Amino acid sequence: MKKCLVLLAGFFTVFSAWAQAPAEVTLTRLDCGNGFNDQRRFSDSFAYTNPKVPFTFSCYVIKHGSDYMVWDTGYLPGSTPSATNKPITELLAQMNVRPEQVTFVGISHFHADHTGQLAPFANATLLIGKGDWDGVNANPPMGGANVAGFKEWMGTSRKVKPLTADEDVFGDGSVLIFRTPGHTPGHSAVLVRLKEMGPVVLLGDAAHFHENYESNGVPGFNFDRAQTIASLERIKAIERNLKATVIIQHDPRDVGKLPAFPNAAR
Ligand SMILES: [Zn+2]
Repeated sequence: MKKCLVLLAGFFTVFSAWAQAPAEVTLTRLDCGNGFNDQRRFSDSFAYTNPKVPFTFSCYVIKHGSDYMVWDTGYLPGSTPSATNKPITELLAQMNVRPEQVTFVGISHFHADHTGQLAPFANATLLIGKGDWDGVNANPPMGGANVAGFKEWMGTSRKVKPLTADEDVFGDGSVLIFRTPGHTPGHSAVLVRLKEMGPVVLLGDAAHFHENYESNGVPGFNFDRAQTIASLERIKAIERNLKATVIIQHDPRDVGKLPAFPNAAR
């Protein structure tokens, strides 16, 4: 009987250790388009003179255990010359992921270059800053809100979670969507903690280039100047405190910070 109890205790120790083992987290960048932009548009104080800088469009897949989360979805293919001609579903297929398997779609903000390919993710919960969700649903919608991109999510049974606070997506601290308002009212960034690479911040459009990240440059079309600068300060504090890798999603110089598709950072 005693031996039996010892065996049983041993079993529970092993079992609970297994139950608590942290889920493996990986991060993959998907190429969601490329083009050029007039850098002069991205300063409200005439900081830039270059009328043509390369501009990339990034989507990401975060795998957490057996769950998938997509972060930003690029333009709708065919909608503009900068859009990718390879739909996100095709890129996911190369990773052996079907859109129905995606549990969460997080978006940094409501602009068309981040929300063009939400439609395929029928089973996912859409995670969006409440300020942006309200802007999409306002009558008339807020300027810049890509309402067409959200039509499958409006007044339907699809799940939306408008975020009013930072969101610990999987409840273990490994993926944190955090508020970085300013570019839009509900703009968000995401912190992904990887075992080998360490913490990574995908900062959405809190900054568009190295130049405006480093100098707290604010585009004239941002929703709120003071919030933009406060959000950049927050990201820089996270970068310092966690020694995080910060990835500016539109800056082609940051593409190489993650392994080339379909390889994942771990
Ligand atoms: Zn953008």
